[in-house]
Amino acid sequence: MIKFSDLKLDPKVLKAIEDAGYETPTPIQAGAIPPALEGRDVLGIAQTGTGKTASFTLPMITLLAKGRARARMPRSLVLCPTRELAAQVAENFDTYTKYHKLTKALLIGGVSFKEQDQLIDRGVDVLIATPGRLLDHFERGKLLLTGVQIMVVDEADRMLDMGFIPDIERIFSLTPFTRQTLFFSATMAPEIERITNTFLSAPERIEVARQASASTTITQGVVMFKASRKDREASEKRQLLRALIDAEGEKCKNAIIFCNRKTDVDIVAKSLKKYGYDAAPIHGDLEQSQRMRTLDGFRDGTLRFLVASDVAARGLDIPNVSHVFNFDVPSHAEDYVHRIGRTGRAGRSGTAIMICTGRDDKNFADVERLIQTEIPRLANPLDGVIMPASDDEAEGEARTSSSRSRSRSSRGRSGDKPAPKDKPEDAQIETRREEKPRDEKPRDDRPRDEKPREDRPREDRPRDDRPREDRPRDDRARNDKPRDDRSRDAKPREDRAPEGRSDDRRDRPRGGQGRDSGRDNGPKVVGMGDHLPSFIALSFDERRTV
Ligand code: AMP
Repeated sequence: MIKFSDLKLDPKVLKAIEDAGYETPTPIQAGAIPPALEGRDVLGIAQTGTGKTASFTLPMITLLAKGRARARMPRSLVLCPTRELAAQVAENFDTYTKYHKLTKALLIGGVSFKEQDQLIDRGVDVLIATPGRLLDHFERGKLLLTGVQIMVVDEADRMLDMGFIPDIERIFSLTPFTRQTLFFSATMAPEIERITNTFLSAPERIEVARQASASTTITQGVVMFKASRKDREASEKRQLLRALIDAEGEKCKNAIIFCNRKTDVDIVAKSLKKYGYDAAPIHGDLEQSQRMRTLDGFRDGTLRFLVASDVAARGLDIPNVSHVFNFDVPSHAEDYVHRIGRTGRAGRSGTAIMICTGRDDKNFADVERLIQTEIPRLANPLDGVIMPASDDEAEGEARTSSSRSRSRSSRGRSGDKPAPKDKPEDAQIETRREEKPRDEKPRDDRPRDEKPREDRPREDRPRDDRPREDRPRDDRARNDKPRDDRSRDAKPREDRAPEGRSDDRRDRPRGGQGRDSGRDNGPKVVGMGDHLPSFIALSFDERRTV
Protein backbone atom coordinates (compact mmCIF):
# COMPACT_ATOMS: atom_id res chain seq x y z
CA MET A 1 0.00 0.00 0.00
CA ILE A 2 1.26 3.47 -0.89
CA LYS A 3 2.15 5.68 2.06
CA PHE A 4 2.31 9.46 2.15
CA SER A 5 6.03 9.19 2.79
CA ASP A 6 6.42 7.43 -0.58
CA LEU A 7 5.05 10.45 -2.40
CA LYS A 8 8.06 12.80 -2.22
CA LEU A 9 6.11 15.49 -0.46
CA ASP A 10 7.87 18.22 1.51
CA PRO A 11 8.66 16.93 5.05
CA LYS A 12 6.73 19.85 6.56
CA VAL A 13 3.70 18.87 4.51
CA LEU A 14 4.05 15.30 5.74
CA LYS A 15 4.10 16.57 9.30
CA ALA A 16 0.92 18.59 8.73
CA ILE A 17 -0.75 15.51 7.18
CA GLU A 18 0.21 13.48 10.20
CA ASP A 19 -1.27 16.17 12.46
CA ALA A 20 -4.48 15.98 10.41
CA GLY A 21 -4.62 12.28 11.24
CA TYR A 22 -4.43 10.93 7.70
CA GLU A 23 -2.79 7.55 7.50
CA THR A 24 -2.75 6.65 3.84
CA PRO A 25 -3.34 8.60 0.67
CA THR A 26 -6.72 8.17 -0.97
CA PRO A 27 -6.71 6.82 -4.56
CA ILE A 28 -6.97 10.28 -6.12
CA GLN A 29 -4.08 11.46 -3.94
CA ALA A 30 -1.95 8.43 -4.76
CA GLY A 31 -2.69 8.97 -8.45
CA ALA A 32 -2.43 12.75 -8.73
CA ILE A 33 0.36 13.74 -6.34
CA PRO A 34 3.34 12.05 -8.12
CA PRO A 35 2.69 13.54 -11.58
CA ALA A 36 1.79 16.92 -10.04
CA LEU A 37 5.11 16.95 -8.20
CA GLU A 38 6.87 16.24 -11.49
CA GLY A 39 5.31 19.40 -12.88
CA ARG A 40 2.94 17.55 -15.18
CA ASP A 41 -0.66 18.49 -15.92
CA VAL A 42 -3.26 16.38 -14.14
CA LEU A 43 -6.82 15.60 -15.10
CA GLY A 44 -8.58 14.23 -12.03
CA ILE A 45 -12.01 12.77 -12.47
CA ALA A 46 -13.22 12.60 -8.92
CA GLN A 47 -16.04 13.77 -6.74
CA THR A 48 -15.82 15.61 -3.49
CA GLY A 49 -15.32 13.31 -0.56
CA THR A 50 -12.53 11.44 -2.33
CA GLY A 51 -9.77 13.61 -0.87
CA LYS A 52 -9.28 15.51 -4.12
CA THR A 53 -8.60 18.85 -2.41
CA ALA A 54 -5.49 17.46 -0.74
CA SER A 55 -4.52 15.82 -4.04
CA PHE A 56 -3.78 19.27 -5.46
CA THR A 57 -2.99 21.32 -2.33
CA LEU A 58 -0.27 18.98 -1.04
CA PRO A 59 1.86 18.99 -4.22
CA MET A 60 1.21 22.71 -4.70
CA ILE A 61 2.60 23.50 -1.26
CA THR A 62 5.60 21.29 -1.90
CA LEU A 63 6.30 23.02 -5.23
CA LEU A 64 5.67 26.52 -3.88
CA ALA A 65 7.82 26.01 -0.80
CA LYS A 66 10.73 27.19 -2.92
CA GLY A 67 10.51 30.73 -4.23
CA ARG A 68 8.85 33.96 -3.20
CA ALA A 69 5.69 35.80 -4.06
CA ARG A 70 5.84 39.12 -5.95
CA ALA A 71 3.47 42.03 -5.53
CA ARG A 72 0.24 41.62 -7.48
CA MET A 73 1.54 38.48 -9.15
CA PRO A 74 0.20 35.36 -7.45
CA ARG A 75 2.31 32.28 -8.05
CA SER A 76 -0.62 29.91 -8.15
CA LEU A 77 -4.33 30.09 -8.70
CA VAL A 78 -7.19 27.85 -7.59
CA LEU A 79 -10.58 28.46 -9.23
CA CYS A 80 -13.71 27.20 -7.50
CA PRO A 81 -17.33 27.54 -8.61
CA THR A 82 -18.77 28.74 -5.30
CA ARG A 83 -17.67 30.86 -2.40
CA GLU A 84 -18.13 28.02 0.06
CA LEU A 85 -15.90 25.72 -1.93
CA ALA A 86 -13.29 28.43 -2.27
CA ALA A 87 -13.41 29.00 1.49
CA GLN A 88 -13.08 25.27 2.04
CA VAL A 89 -10.03 25.04 -0.20
CA ALA A 90 -8.53 27.99 1.72
CA GLU A 91 -9.09 26.10 4.99
CA ASN A 92 -7.33 23.09 3.49
CA PHE A 93 -4.35 25.29 2.66
CA ASP A 94 -4.30 26.56 6.24
CA THR A 95 -4.25 22.99 7.54
CA TYR A 96 -1.47 21.78 5.29
CA THR A 97 0.72 24.92 5.34
CA LYS A 98 0.90 25.15 9.11
CA TYR A 99 4.67 24.55 9.01
CA HIS A 100 5.25 26.81 6.02
CA LYS A 101 5.27 30.54 5.54
CA LEU A 102 3.21 30.61 2.38
CA THR A 103 0.72 33.41 1.88
CA LYS A 104 -2.72 33.12 0.40
CA ALA A 105 -5.67 35.31 -0.53
CA LEU A 106 -9.29 34.34 -0.98
CA LEU A 107 -11.13 36.32 -3.64
CA ILE A 108 -14.83 35.76 -3.22
CA GLY A 109 -17.90 37.94 -3.26
CA GLY A 110 -19.22 39.29 -0.01
CA VAL A 111 -15.75 40.35 1.12
CA SER A 112 -14.58 43.93 0.58
CA PHE A 113 -12.33 44.59 -2.41
CA LYS A 114 -10.09 46.76 -0.25
CA GLU A 115 -9.02 43.98 2.08
CA GLN A 116 -8.44 41.64 -0.84
CA ASP A 117 -6.49 44.30 -2.77
CA GLN A 118 -4.17 44.82 0.18
CA LEU A 119 -3.34 41.13 0.32
CA ILE A 120 -2.72 40.93 -3.42
CA ASP A 121 -0.59 44.09 -3.32
CA ARG A 122 1.72 42.47 -0.82
CA GLY A 123 2.05 39.40 -3.02
CA VAL A 124 0.55 35.97 -2.47
CA ASP A 125 1.72 32.46 -3.15
CA VAL A 126 -1.77 31.06 -3.54
CA LEU A 127 -4.81 32.86 -4.83
CA ILE A 128 -8.12 31.06 -4.34
CA ALA A 129 -11.02 32.59 -6.19
CA THR A 130 -14.38 32.30 -7.83
CA PRO A 131 -14.04 33.17 -11.54
CA GLY A 132 -16.26 36.28 -11.49
CA ARG A 133 -14.52 37.91 -8.59
CA LEU A 134 -11.10 37.11 -10.00
CA LEU A 135 -11.93 38.81 -13.29
CA ASP A 136 -13.37 41.80 -11.42
CA HIS A 137 -10.01 42.25 -9.71
CA PHE A 138 -8.17 41.73 -12.97
CA GLU A 139 -10.25 44.30 -14.79
CA ARG A 140 -9.67 46.83 -12.05
CA GLY A 141 -5.99 46.48 -12.83
CA LYS A 142 -5.17 45.15 -9.39
CA LEU A 143 -3.93 41.78 -10.42
CA LEU A 144 -1.52 40.23 -12.91
CA LEU A 145 -1.87 36.59 -13.81
CA THR A 146 1.39 36.36 -15.73
CA GLY A 147 3.21 34.96 -12.69
CA VAL A 148 0.87 31.97 -12.26
CA GLN A 149 2.94 28.80 -12.35
CA ILE A 150 0.23 26.41 -11.19
CA MET A 151 -3.44 26.75 -12.00
CA VAL A 152 -6.13 24.54 -10.50
CA VAL A 153 -9.67 24.27 -11.79
CA ASP A 154 -11.82 22.57 -9.17
CA GLU A 155 -15.30 21.14 -9.82
CA ALA A 156 -15.16 21.93 -13.53
CA ASP A 157 -18.47 20.19 -14.15
CA ARG A 158 -20.18 22.58 -11.76
CA MET A 159 -18.43 25.48 -13.52
CA LEU A 160 -20.00 24.21 -16.71
CA ASP A 161 -23.44 23.98 -15.11
CA MET A 162 -23.10 27.51 -13.85
CA GLY A 163 -22.04 28.91 -17.20
CA PHE A 164 -18.50 29.72 -16.12
CA ILE A 165 -16.67 28.03 -18.96
CA PRO A 166 -16.11 31.27 -20.95
CA ASP A 167 -14.66 32.85 -17.78
CA ILE A 168 -12.40 29.87 -17.27
CA GLU A 169 -11.20 30.04 -20.87
CA ARG A 170 -10.46 33.72 -20.46
CA ILE A 171 -8.54 33.13 -17.24
CA PHE A 172 -6.55 30.36 -18.91
CA SER A 173 -5.60 32.80 -21.65
CA LEU A 174 -4.39 35.35 -19.09
CA THR A 175 -1.98 32.92 -17.46
CA PRO A 176 1.37 31.89 -18.98
CA PHE A 177 1.38 29.16 -21.56
CA THR A 178 4.02 27.36 -19.52
CA ARG A 179 1.87 27.02 -16.40
CA GLN A 180 1.08 23.65 -14.89
CA THR A 181 -2.63 22.82 -14.81
CA LEU A 182 -4.40 20.58 -12.31
CA PHE A 183 -7.96 20.09 -13.48
CA PHE A 184 -10.71 18.33 -11.52
CA SER A 185 -14.19 17.36 -12.53
CA ALA A 186 -16.68 14.77 -11.32
CA THR A 187 -17.80 14.09 -14.88
CA MET A 188 -16.36 14.56 -18.35
CA ALA A 189 -19.06 16.25 -20.38
CA PRO A 190 -18.05 16.99 -24.02
CA GLU A 191 -17.53 20.66 -23.19
CA ILE A 192 -15.18 19.74 -20.35
CA GLU A 193 -13.35 17.36 -22.65
CA ARG A 194 -12.93 20.21 -25.13
CA ILE A 195 -11.48 22.53 -22.49
CA THR A 196 -9.04 19.92 -21.27
CA ASN A 197 -7.97 19.15 -24.83
CA THR A 198 -7.36 22.85 -25.43
CA PHE A 199 -5.65 23.91 -22.23
CA LEU A 200 -4.02 20.84 -20.72
CA SER A 201 -0.83 19.43 -22.08
CA ALA A 202 -0.49 15.63 -22.10
CA PRO A 203 -2.21 15.36 -18.71
CA GLU A 204 -2.01 12.37 -16.43
CA ARG A 205 -5.60 11.19 -16.23
CA ILE A 206 -6.80 9.75 -12.93
CA GLU A 207 -10.35 8.55 -12.56
CA VAL A 208 -11.52 7.38 -9.17
CA ALA A 209 -15.29 7.11 -9.09
CA ARG A 210 -18.14 6.95 -11.48
CA GLN A 211 -20.47 9.91 -11.48
CA ALA A 212 -23.51 7.83 -10.71
CA SER A 213 -22.10 5.80 -7.90
CA ALA A 214 -23.62 6.43 -4.52
CA SER A 215 -21.58 5.26 -1.58
CA THR A 216 -22.51 1.80 -0.40
CA THR A 217 -22.41 3.02 3.19
CA ILE A 218 -25.59 5.04 2.62
CA THR A 219 -28.96 3.50 3.39
CA GLN A 220 -31.46 5.00 0.99
CA GLY A 221 -35.23 5.22 1.13
CA VAL A 222 -38.11 7.08 -0.47
CA VAL A 223 -41.61 7.86 0.73
CA MET A 224 -44.21 8.11 -2.01
CA PHE A 225 -46.38 10.92 -0.77
CA LYS A 226 -49.85 12.03 -1.73
CA ALA A 227 -51.48 14.89 0.11
CA SER A 228 -54.96 14.48 1.55
CA ARG A 229 -55.95 17.63 -0.29
CA LYS A 230 -54.09 19.48 -3.00
CA ASP A 231 -54.17 22.77 -1.14
CA ARG A 232 -52.61 21.09 1.90
CA GLU A 233 -49.76 19.45 0.03
CA ALA A 234 -47.08 21.88 1.15
CA SER A 235 -47.91 21.81 4.84
CA GLU A 236 -48.49 18.04 4.86
CA LYS A 237 -45.15 17.56 3.18
CA ARG A 238 -43.49 19.51 5.95
CA GLN A 239 -45.44 17.47 8.47
CA LEU A 240 -44.14 14.33 6.80
CA LEU A 241 -40.60 15.64 6.99
CA ARG A 242 -40.96 16.14 10.74
CA ALA A 243 -42.41 12.67 11.11
CA LEU A 244 -39.51 11.16 9.15
CA ILE A 245 -36.99 12.99 11.32
CA ASP A 246 -38.81 11.84 14.45
CA ALA A 247 -38.98 8.26 13.19
CA GLU A 248 -35.18 8.21 12.87
CA GLY A 249 -34.97 9.21 16.54
CA GLU A 250 -31.53 9.24 18.12
CA LYS A 251 -29.97 7.86 14.95
CA CYS A 252 -30.51 11.26 13.36
CA LYS A 253 -27.72 13.20 15.00
CA ASN A 254 -27.79 15.90 12.36
CA ALA A 255 -29.10 16.27 8.84
CA ILE A 256 -28.94 18.26 5.67
CA ILE A 257 -32.39 18.81 4.21
CA PHE A 258 -32.35 19.61 0.51
CA CYS A 259 -35.03 21.62 -1.25
CA ASN A 260 -35.10 22.47 -4.95
CA ARG A 261 -36.08 26.10 -4.49
CA LYS A 262 -34.59 28.81 -2.35
CA THR A 263 -38.04 29.87 -1.18
CA ASP A 264 -38.70 26.36 0.08
CA VAL A 265 -35.34 26.34 1.85
CA ASP A 266 -36.51 29.36 3.82
CA ILE A 267 -40.00 28.03 4.42
CA VAL A 268 -38.87 24.58 5.54
CA ALA A 269 -36.23 26.02 7.87
CA LYS A 270 -38.73 28.45 9.34
CA SER A 271 -41.34 25.74 9.75
CA LEU A 272 -38.90 23.34 11.44
CA LYS A 273 -37.76 26.06 13.80
CA LYS A 274 -41.33 26.81 14.64
CA TYR A 275 -41.89 23.22 15.63
CA GLY A 276 -38.86 23.25 17.88
CA TYR A 277 -36.28 21.71 15.55
CA ASP A 278 -32.88 23.34 15.54
CA ALA A 279 -32.73 24.37 11.87
CA ALA A 280 -31.24 27.13 9.73
CA PRO A 281 -31.32 27.80 5.98
CA ILE A 282 -28.44 28.16 3.56
CA HIS A 283 -28.82 29.34 -0.01
CA GLY A 284 -27.38 31.87 -2.41
CA ASP A 285 -29.61 34.80 -1.45
CA LEU A 286 -28.35 34.91 2.10
CA GLU A 287 -25.53 37.17 3.21
CA GLN A 288 -22.14 35.54 2.96
CA SER A 289 -21.47 36.13 6.67
CA GLN A 290 -24.73 34.42 7.58
CA ARG A 291 -23.94 31.49 5.27
CA MET A 292 -20.58 31.07 6.94
CA ARG A 293 -22.04 31.32 10.44
CA THR A 294 -24.67 28.73 9.65
CA LEU A 295 -22.12 26.35 8.14
CA ASP A 296 -19.76 26.78 11.08
CA GLY A 297 -22.63 26.04 13.46
CA PHE A 298 -23.51 22.90 11.53
CA ARG A 299 -19.90 21.78 11.38
CA ASP A 300 -19.26 22.27 15.09
CA GLY A 301 -22.51 20.58 16.07
CA THR A 302 -24.32 23.59 17.49
CA LEU A 303 -26.83 23.45 14.64
CA ARG A 304 -28.61 20.15 14.01
CA PHE A 305 -30.51 20.73 10.77
CA LEU A 306 -29.13 22.52 7.75
CA VAL A 307 -31.79 23.25 5.16
CA ALA A 308 -29.99 23.80 1.87
CA SER A 309 -30.18 24.41 -1.83
CA ASP A 310 -27.96 22.42 -4.17
CA VAL A 311 -25.47 25.11 -5.04
CA ALA A 312 -24.98 26.25 -1.46
CA ALA A 313 -24.27 22.73 -0.30
CA ARG A 314 -22.42 21.45 -3.33
CA GLY A 315 -19.03 20.04 -2.52
CA LEU A 316 -19.15 21.05 1.10
CA ASP A 317 -17.05 18.84 3.22
CA ILE A 318 -18.92 18.33 6.45
CA PRO A 319 -17.88 15.09 8.06
CA ASN A 320 -20.28 13.24 10.32
CA VAL A 321 -23.57 14.06 8.68
CA SER A 322 -25.84 11.24 9.82
CA HIS A 323 -28.82 11.97 7.55
CA VAL A 324 -29.77 13.61 4.30
CA PHE A 325 -33.43 14.35 3.67
CA ASN A 326 -34.48 15.19 0.15
CA PHE A 327 -37.53 17.29 0.78
CA ASP A 328 -37.84 17.45 -3.02
CA VAL A 329 -36.70 15.00 -5.66
CA PRO A 330 -33.89 16.89 -7.42
CA SER A 331 -34.73 17.96 -10.93
CA HIS A 332 -31.25 16.98 -12.11
CA ALA A 333 -30.67 13.34 -11.34
CA GLU A 334 -26.95 13.74 -10.73
CA ASP A 335 -27.74 16.17 -7.90
CA TYR A 336 -29.21 13.21 -6.03
CA VAL A 337 -25.80 11.57 -5.93
CA HIS A 338 -24.18 14.79 -4.75
CA ARG A 339 -26.85 15.40 -2.15
CA ILE A 340 -26.77 12.00 -0.54
CA GLY A 341 -22.97 12.02 -0.76
CA ARG A 342 -23.04 14.57 2.10
CA THR A 343 -23.65 11.61 4.39
CA GLY A 344 -21.85 8.28 4.64
CA ARG A 345 -18.49 9.97 4.10
CA ALA A 346 -15.11 8.40 4.72
CA GLY A 347 -16.56 4.94 5.24
CA ARG A 348 -19.10 6.02 7.87
CA SER A 349 -22.70 4.92 7.59
CA GLY A 350 -25.39 7.36 6.61
CA THR A 351 -29.08 7.52 5.79
CA ALA A 352 -30.71 9.33 2.87
CA ILE A 353 -34.49 9.65 2.79
CA MET A 354 -36.44 11.32 0.02
CA ILE A 355 -40.02 12.52 -0.32
CA CYS A 356 -41.53 11.95 -3.75
CA THR A 357 -44.85 13.46 -4.81
CA GLY A 358 -46.84 12.51 -7.87
CA ARG A 359 -45.36 15.46 -9.73
CA ASP A 360 -41.85 14.12 -9.15
CA ASP A 361 -42.44 10.84 -10.96
CA LYS A 362 -40.32 11.70 -13.97
CA ASN A 363 -37.42 13.12 -11.97
CA PHE A 364 -37.59 10.18 -9.62
CA ALA A 365 -37.43 7.73 -12.52
CA ASP A 366 -34.37 9.64 -13.79
CA VAL A 367 -32.68 9.28 -10.40
CA GLU A 368 -33.27 5.54 -10.26
CA ARG A 369 -32.11 5.17 -13.85
CA LEU A 370 -28.92 7.10 -13.09
CA ILE A 371 -27.98 5.19 -9.96
CA GLN A 372 -29.21 1.93 -11.50
CA THR A 373 -30.78 1.00 -8.22
CA GLU A 374 -34.32 0.79 -7.03
CA ILE A 375 -34.56 3.01 -3.98
CA PRO A 376 -36.46 1.12 -1.28
CA ARG A 377 -39.99 2.46 -0.72
CA LEU A 378 -40.63 3.40 2.87
CA ALA A 379 -43.99 3.45 4.58
CA ASN A 380 -45.39 6.92 5.16
CA PRO A 381 -45.24 7.32 8.95
CA LEU A 382 -48.27 9.58 8.72
CA ASP A 383 -50.49 7.15 6.82
CA GLY A 384 -53.85 7.34 8.53
CA VAL A 385 -52.55 10.06 10.80
CA ILE A 386 -52.84 13.22 8.76
CA MET A 387 -55.91 15.11 9.78
CA PRO A 388 -56.96 17.72 7.31
CA ALA A 389 -57.16 21.42 8.18
CA SER A 390 -56.76 21.38 11.97
CA ASP A 391 -53.79 19.07 12.09
CA ASP A 392 -51.27 21.84 12.49
CA GLU A 393 -53.04 23.01 15.61
CA ALA A 394 -52.89 19.54 17.09
CA GLU A 395 -49.13 19.61 16.57
CA GLY A 396 -48.73 22.89 18.30
CA GLU A 397 -48.77 25.43 15.53
CA ALA A 398 -50.68 28.23 17.14
CA ARG A 399 -52.78 29.08 14.16
CA THR A 400 -55.79 31.04 15.16
CA SER A 401 -58.88 31.05 13.06
CA SER A 402 -58.14 34.64 12.18
CA SER A 403 -54.74 33.69 10.86
CA ARG A 404 -56.35 30.98 8.84
CA SER A 405 -58.77 33.34 7.26
CA ARG A 406 -55.91 35.74 6.67
CA SER A 407 -54.10 32.96 4.93
CA ARG A 408 -57.06 32.26 2.74
CA SER A 409 -57.70 35.84 1.83
CA SER A 410 -54.03 36.42 1.06
CA ARG A 411 -54.26 33.99 -1.80
CA GLY A 412 -56.10 36.50 -3.86
CA ARG A 413 -53.82 39.43 -3.17
CA SER A 414 -50.46 39.10 -4.80
CA GLY A 415 -49.38 42.61 -3.98
CA ASP A 416 -50.24 42.47 -0.32
CA LYS A 417 -47.94 42.78 2.63
CA PRO A 418 -45.55 39.88 3.16
CA ALA A 419 -46.93 37.05 5.18
CA PRO A 420 -46.47 37.25 8.93
CA LYS A 421 -43.16 35.78 9.97
CA ASP A 422 -44.62 32.89 11.90
CA LYS A 423 -46.81 31.68 9.10
CA PRO A 424 -44.76 29.51 6.82
CA GLU A 425 -47.82 28.45 4.87
CA ASP A 426 -48.73 32.03 4.19
CA ALA A 427 -45.19 32.82 3.23
CA GLN A 428 -45.30 30.03 0.76
CA ILE A 429 -48.44 31.28 -0.85
CA GLU A 430 -46.84 34.65 -1.29
CA THR A 431 -43.49 33.50 -2.56
CA ARG A 432 -44.45 30.60 -4.78
CA ARG A 433 -46.17 33.05 -7.04
CA GLU A 434 -42.86 34.62 -7.97
CA GLU A 435 -40.69 31.60 -8.25
CA LYS A 436 -40.74 29.18 -11.13
CA PRO A 437 -39.90 25.56 -10.51
CA ARG A 438 -36.31 24.63 -11.09
CA ASP A 439 -37.21 22.48 -14.07
CA GLU A 440 -38.15 25.52 -16.01
CA LYS A 441 -35.13 27.54 -15.03
CA PRO A 442 -32.40 25.10 -14.13
CA ARG A 443 -29.47 26.03 -11.92
CA ASP A 444 -31.20 29.14 -10.70
CA ASP A 445 -29.50 29.05 -7.34
CA ARG A 446 -26.39 30.44 -8.82
CA PRO A 447 -24.99 33.19 -6.67
CA ARG A 448 -24.77 36.47 -8.46
CA ASP A 449 -21.05 37.00 -8.16
CA GLU A 450 -20.55 33.53 -9.49
CA LYS A 451 -22.05 34.31 -12.86
CA PRO A 452 -20.24 34.26 -16.17
CA ARG A 453 -18.98 37.65 -17.23
CA GLU A 454 -20.91 37.79 -20.48
CA ASP A 455 -24.16 37.69 -18.59
CA ARG A 456 -23.31 40.57 -16.36
CA PRO A 457 -24.36 44.11 -16.97
CA ARG A 458 -21.53 46.43 -17.84
CA GLU A 459 -21.50 48.81 -14.94
CA ASP A 460 -18.78 50.68 -13.21
CA ARG A 461 -19.85 49.47 -9.84
CA PRO A 462 -18.50 46.01 -9.17
CA ARG A 463 -21.37 43.62 -9.12
CA ASP A 464 -20.35 42.06 -5.85
CA ASP A 465 -20.84 45.30 -4.04
CA ARG A 466 -24.46 45.54 -4.90
CA PRO A 467 -27.32 44.47 -2.72
CA ARG A 468 -28.80 41.08 -3.42
CA GLU A 469 -25.47 40.15 -4.88
CA ASP A 470 -26.31 36.52 -4.90
CA ARG A 471 -29.29 36.99 -7.13
CA PRO A 472 -29.04 34.32 -9.79
CA ARG A 473 -29.00 35.02 -13.46
CA ASP A 474 -32.27 33.40 -14.29
CA ASP A 475 -34.03 35.03 -11.40
CA ARG A 476 -32.48 38.28 -12.44
CA ALA A 477 -33.85 37.93 -15.91
CA ARG A 478 -37.26 37.33 -14.46
CA ASN A 479 -36.99 40.00 -11.86
CA ASP A 480 -35.69 42.60 -14.22
CA LYS A 481 -39.09 42.55 -15.75
CA PRO A 482 -41.14 45.34 -14.20
CA ARG A 483 -43.09 43.87 -11.34
CA ASP A 484 -46.33 45.34 -12.63
CA ASP A 485 -45.95 43.51 -15.86
CA ARG A 486 -45.39 40.29 -14.06
CA SER A 487 -48.47 40.50 -11.97
CA ARG A 488 -50.43 41.50 -15.04
CA ASP A 489 -49.18 38.48 -16.92
CA ALA A 490 -50.11 36.26 -14.07
CA LYS A 491 -53.68 37.47 -14.03
CA PRO A 492 -56.40 36.07 -16.19
CA ARG A 493 -57.29 38.49 -18.98
CA GLU A 494 -60.65 39.40 -17.57
CA ASP A 495 -59.09 40.37 -14.26
CA ARG A 496 -56.54 42.68 -15.76
CA ALA A 497 -56.63 46.36 -15.11
CA PRO A 498 -58.50 48.17 -17.86
CA GLU A 499 -55.91 50.89 -18.47
CA GLY A 500 -53.99 48.89 -21.05
CA ARG A 501 -57.17 48.29 -23.00
CA SER A 502 -58.79 51.71 -22.88
CA ASP A 503 -57.98 52.25 -26.51
CA ASP A 504 -58.16 48.63 -27.43
CA ARG A 505 -60.01 48.51 -30.73
CA ARG A 506 -61.82 45.35 -29.77
CA ASP A 507 -63.70 47.27 -27.11
CA ARG A 508 -64.91 49.92 -29.48
CA PRO A 509 -67.97 49.64 -31.61
CA ARG A 510 -66.80 48.85 -35.10
CA GLY A 511 -66.76 51.81 -37.46
CA GLY A 512 -68.10 54.07 -34.72
CA GLN A 513 -71.60 52.93 -35.67
CA GLY A 514 -72.67 51.45 -32.40
CA ARG A 515 -74.64 52.81 -29.53
CA ASP A 516 -71.54 54.26 -27.96
CA SER A 517 -70.34 56.18 -30.95
CA GLY A 518 -69.81 59.76 -29.99
CA ARG A 519 -69.44 58.74 -26.33
CA ASP A 520 -65.97 57.28 -26.54
CA ASN A 521 -64.90 58.58 -23.19
CA GLY A 522 -67.79 57.15 -21.28
CA PRO A 523 -67.73 53.79 -19.50
CA LYS A 524 -67.87 50.84 -21.82
CA VAL A 525 -69.96 47.76 -21.51
CA VAL A 526 -67.51 44.90 -21.68
CA GLY A 527 -68.63 41.74 -23.35
CA MET A 528 -71.73 42.98 -25.17
CA GLY A 529 -70.12 43.81 -28.49
CA ASP A 530 -72.25 46.01 -30.73
CA HIS A 531 -75.47 44.40 -29.86
CA LEU A 532 -77.42 45.52 -26.84
CA PRO A 533 -80.58 43.52 -26.22
CA SER A 534 -83.48 45.93 -25.99
CA PHE A 535 -84.69 44.73 -22.58
CA ILE A 536 -81.41 45.84 -20.98
CA ALA A 537 -82.20 49.43 -21.87
CA LEU A 538 -85.55 49.28 -20.11
CA SER A 539 -85.95 50.44 -16.55
CA PHE A 540 -86.93 47.85 -13.94
CA ASP A 541 -90.43 49.19 -13.75
CA GLU A 542 -90.86 49.15 -17.49
CA ARG A 543 -89.59 45.58 -17.61
CA ARG A 544 -92.07 44.45 -15.07
CA THR A 545 -94.88 45.83 -17.15
CA VAL A 546 -93.69 44.34 -20.45
P1 AMP B 1 -12.38 16.32 -0.30
O1 AMP B 1 -12.74 15.27 -1.29
O2 AMP B 1 -11.16 17.05 -0.66
O3 AMP B 1 -13.56 17.23 -0.03
O4 AMP B 1 -12.03 15.60 1.10
C1 AMP B 1 -12.98 14.89 1.83
C2 AMP B 1 -12.54 14.64 3.26
O5 AMP B 1 -11.53 13.66 3.34
C3 AMP B 1 -11.96 15.86 3.98
O6 AMP B 1 -12.57 15.94 5.25
C4 AMP B 1 -10.50 15.58 4.15
O7 AMP B 1 -10.01 16.17 5.33
C5 AMP B 1 -10.49 14.08 4.23
N1 AMP B 1 -9.25 13.47 3.74
C6 AMP B 1 -8.51 13.89 2.70
N2 AMP B 1 -7.47 13.08 2.51
C7 AMP B 1 -7.55 12.12 3.44
C8 AMP B 1 -6.76 10.98 3.75
N3 AMP B 1 -5.67 10.67 3.06
N4 AMP B 1 -7.16 10.21 4.78
C9 AMP B 1 -8.26 10.51 5.48
N5 AMP B 1 -9.05 11.56 5.25
C10 AMP B 1 -8.70 12.37 4.22
